[in-house]
Amino acid sequence: MKPKTRFPALDRFRLLAAVLVICNHTSPLASYTALGDFWLTRVLARLAVPFFFMVSGYFLAQGKWRSLGAFLKKLLLLYGCAILLYLPLNWYSGSYTPGQWLRNLLAEGTFYHLWYFPATILGAVVARQLSRLGLPAALGIAAVLYLVGLGGDSYYGLAVQVPALKALYDGIFTLCGHSRNGLFFAPLFLLLGAAGVTLRRWTAAAGFSLSLVLLSAEGLWLHSLGVQRHDSMYLALPVVMLFLFSLLQSCNSGRDKRAGDLAQLVYLLHPWCIVLVRGGAKALGLEGLFIENSLGHFAAVAIFSFCAAGLLLRLRPRKLRPKSRAWREIDLDALVHNARVLQSALAPGCRLMTVVKADAYGHGAVTVAKALRRAKVDAFAVSCLAEGVALRRRGVRGTILILGYTPPEDAPVLARWHLTQTVVDEAHGQALSAQGVPVSVHLALDTGMHRLGLSTVDYATIARMYRLPNLKIRGVFSHLCVSDSQAPEDVAFTYAQLTRFYGTLDWLRNQGLDPGAVHIQSSYGIWNLPQQSCTYARAGIALYGVHSGTAPTRRSLDLRPVLSLRARVASVRTVPTGQGVGYGLDFHARRDTRLAVVSIGYADGLPRCLAQQGGQVLIRGQLCPMVGRMCMDQLLVDVTDLPQAVPGDMVTLIGRDGDGELRAEELAWQCGTITNELLSRMGARLPLVSV
Ligand SMILES: *Cc1c(COP(=O)(O)O)cnc(C)c1O
Repeated sequence: MKPKTRFPALDRFRLLAAVLVICNHTSPLASYTALGDFWLTRVLARLAVPFFFMVSGYFLAQGKWRSLGAFLKKLLLLYGCAILLYLPLNWYSGSYTPGQWLRNLLAEGTFYHLWYFPATILGAVVARQLSRLGLPAALGIAAVLYLVGLGGDSYYGLAVQVPALKALYDGIFTLCGHSRNGLFFAPLFLLLGAAGVTLRRWTAAAGFSLSLVLLSAEGLWLHSLGVQRHDSMYLALPVVMLFLFSLLQSCNSGRDKRAGDLAQLVYLLHPWCIVLVRGGAKALGLEGLFIENSLGHFAAVAIFSFCAAGLLLRLRPRKLRPKSRAWREIDLDALVHNARVLQSALAPGCRLMTVVKADAYGHGAVTVAKALRRAKVDAFAVSCLAEGVALRRRGVRGTILILGYTPPEDAPVLARWHLTQTVVDEAHGQALSAQGVPVSVHLALDTGMHRLGLSTVDYATIARMYRLPNLKIRGVFSHLCVSDSQAPEDVAFTYAQLTRFYGTLDWLRNQGLDPGAVHIQSSYGIWNLPQQSCTYARAGIALYGVHSGTAPTRRSLDLRPVLSLRARVASVRTVPTGQGVGYGLDFHARRDTRLAVVSIGYADGLPRCLAQQGGQVLIRGQLCPMVGRMCMDQLLVDVTDLPQAVPGDMVTLIGRDGDGELRAEELAWQCGTITNELLSRMGARLPLVSV
């Protein structure tokens, strides 16, 4: 059950975990009770780092590990900064040999608390690789690794009584100083977090209390035996963590990134604060209060650490939150799914050329192309040179075909970026070749659309293209112009186009001229035609999981919409009966009307006419009608029947919310256009959020 108020318990608990880490390094109870201090710092405080691992694992797995790269980058950056930050203390406390430095850098950390960074980095990579085996197997392996680590930690004295184990640990400890590291310690907790086990709240609470007693007993017992080589790892610890995490998860809602960042900074800074508190106390003659009294020492370090961390957070540049006003949400899983479905709908040997022109129909060309590359797509089509270069600059490899005109003088740019250019007519081909730079091209054939291409019957011209010295003809293609229609005359026209296309290809081959890659189908060619044995099919709109309009297609493919368009409720107000609303006072309240002002308008790419054509939005999963005239940056919605609507609510213009769904096809149809236009006109000020 979720509480009504937002409580980001997981992130907030990190703050408590940071306090526990400070306890661990300051021994608050040492002046009062040695055993109590052992329990606090060597048992209870040992919950902190596993908790950090679990939260990381949990959020990484929630994002299907997609953010692992960014996560590792951030950690590496932080680790780098931390290394520099602690260099003065390294220098002060004595020198290391280069070998020790390397070992510290890779495993132990260059200062005592920094082991956390290499451990998290290695642990996350190991956990990710293990998770590919499925969670049960991954957890099994990680548990075995943990057991190995345990023998080198709290249970060391017992483990080394077995000679084989002694040899094992001797080996391990020549490589690293501790077994609580990225291999034996971190993966289990990262994966336990990834598992995100949810128990009933009371079960979790009872389990936590009970297992904490067990952990305490285990810790004190091992302590009394004096077998601990180190005291980070206990048998009961993963069990305690499982219950604790489940308990927190059961009351968690939302995130508090600030708390997470603050905890991380406190972790990073507190050893410096210890040094400074000690130095300061000595300088001021306050040793009694801030050094000798363990509680005073702890409190001073904790307060100082939190203040320093808070100050640093304040100084940090603020990032724009992408979901603040209006945004495009891109479902990359749906995209990859669609690419697979389309690929399997093609003839054997025919491959997908994904059309990512117009910023991937408003979906963000770079993100889309990169996701497709990862899914083994190796051919892309764009509309112009700038789009092709933009992809290359961002590291997109594979074939990139420019479907539209490129001025011949830009031939060197084409060559420089290995882009393939369409020859749009004879003059274009001649001029391209005349630049003196060899360029890869596909010849466009005009099979009846009369837009771009060489006439299919003008064999002499086609043959001349093959004789041009600087055209490397790598493909021949055409475009169908009525393949979206199933009217008999349109179907006949499409087949005539196909006949002309294949006829010209036959002629070329008979002349000994190689057409290279051949392609003619686009989305509707895939939906409405039998499979074509070509090299490629160029899928645009279908890739994005929608049809152009509402007309039915011959085949139905299981495609999923990739884009959702969302905004926020900016303000809610009541308009009394009879009052006019908005520009032109176009809408008149026929009852006392609750109006929601929504933070998106026609400058964001929505057709202005939509509001008057029965446009609707989803708020809290419920449909609400647009009223009045759409503004440039806002639109108005009647929420009289949705009393729960409040400012800040998410508003869905396209996509799903709860059980409700608004399809792009419907919206385009209402405005007398097609989804291709609607999507490709999405405003550049709408941030793209990949989900
Ligand atoms: C835009 C375009 C496509 C993609 O069309 P969809 O109908 O979106 O699949 C294919 N080929 C050419 C030449 C295009 O211009």
